[in-house]
Amino acid sequence: MKNFPMFLRMNGRRVVICGGTEEAARKARLMLKTEAELVIVAAAPEPELAALIGNGRATGVASATPETFENCALVFIATGDEDEDLRLRAMARAAGAVVNVVDRPEYCDAFTPSIVDRDPVVVAIGTEGAAPVLGRSIKTQVEVMLSPRLGGFVALAGRLRDAVAEAIPQARRRAFWEAAFTGAAFRAHLAGREREAAALLKEAIATGEAPEPAGHIALVGAGPGARDLLTLRAVERLQQADVIFYDRLVDPEVLELARRDADRVFVGKEVGACAWPQDKIDRLIVAEASKGRRVVRLKSGDPSIFGRATEEIEAARAAGIEIEIVPGITAASAAAASLLRPLTERGETDTFAVSTGTCRPGDANPDRARLAHPGTSMAFYMAVEKAGQVQGDLLAGGAPAACPVDIVASASTVNERHASTTLGDLAACIEREGLKSPAILFVRYPKSLAAQIEAAGRSAA
Ligand code: SAH
Repeated sequence: MKNFPMFLRMNGRRVVICGGTEEAARKARLMLKTEAELVIVAAAPEPELAALIGNGRATGVASATPETFENCALVFIATGDEDEDLRLRAMARAAGAVVNVVDRPEYCDAFTPSIVDRDPVVVAIGTEGAAPVLGRSIKTQVEVMLSPRLGGFVALAGRLRDAVAEAIPQARRRAFWEAAFTGAAFRAHLAGREREAAALLKEAIATGEAPEPAGHIALVGAGPGARDLLTLRAVERLQQADVIFYDRLVDPEVLELARRDADRVFVGKEVGACAWPQDKIDRLIVAEASKGRRVVRLKSGDPSIFGRATEEIEAARAAGIEIEIVPGITAASAAAASLLRPLTERGETDTFAVSTGTCRPGDANPDRARLAHPGTSMAFYMAVEKAGQVQGDLLAGGAPAACPVDIVASASTVNERHASTTLGDLAACIEREGLKSPAILFVRYPKSLAAQIEAAGRSAA
């Protein structure tokens, strides 16, 4: 480690910023997050700096003397003139100051990290100047991980520290805080119910223990496979889960986001296979939540599309357990994105229909003839093995054989494959290309195709 990270105490201290440039303004903006007194050294400060001086938030001086740098916490130099930068640097260092010459690491005593600010929680990321772009990308990842409301809860906990120290014996204090930072109060605060969070924490202090956790089930949409197509809420639920039930289409990368000590249960439902019958899954998730555990039922795509969520919601309701759906990106959305082809197109397709190739044994097939109308864009799930039937039903319903078709298998994963053809060739194309489930079959019946066919019919007559 060539540079050692430390947090500097800034309240009541001076920070000197030399230069009237945009770079100097950027450092001033950073320093304004602190309680430091700002001194801006510039004969002609740019407008933002001039405003800070004008409204009294910073003191402005036209030029620096050695006294300017005495007893200050930090000096930033960005005059836009290299010789001037070096002259000021020498003067500041002679006065004993810690200096940062903006964008000139070779002249710096200290570097500003990439910062994730959830005051009082602050994460600083440094790459010793080797890869600032990487530093920023790590910052983005940490930004995503930490709720914007985290700081508020930590500040609340900070205010209650003394009360906790008084009410909770030392031996149980650590467990108390662990429960506080994962428990009901924490979750209420992150969900925006700040008053409830404070009340829960105070109640816990009054009774001397963290409240019993209430069980909870989240039906979480895992998206089509790619981990970065998960929602932030899905990641949050994964990190809070005590136990996760997942099935075949959920990517292992997604499970990686869960807490390491969470239980993971594979309920590997194959399409049509019954190794884990639905009622067994319903019973299990309810039984786990009844123990006070936080259960995530991870489902591919969006739980509310061919996800059998209704059964699980009813089982939870019957047992009086809180349940929620965390929506996900459904396979059709991911497949459309891969093709760069929107699901609806103004003037061509004004109706988007989601349907399936496979139904529960004994159920009638969907009435596909109803979909075979001009202006309809269709996405068929679970339809690879039933492509012949889908094709036959649509043709019989009056859809032209020339309707464009796209097939996207394993959308958003490393195994993604596409094929484009027409309705007349749909089943043969799947056979020829060897396309396998999971895949989405898109069939479009654009209005312009209907018009063309009608015009051709008229000219033939
Ligand atoms: N709830 C899921 C659908 C579950 S049904 C969702 O919203 O996406 C299972 C079907 O989803 C598969 O047969 C296939 O048609 C589709 N599917 C799931 N993941 C897919 C993927 N990555 N690429 C293409 N199709 C997918």
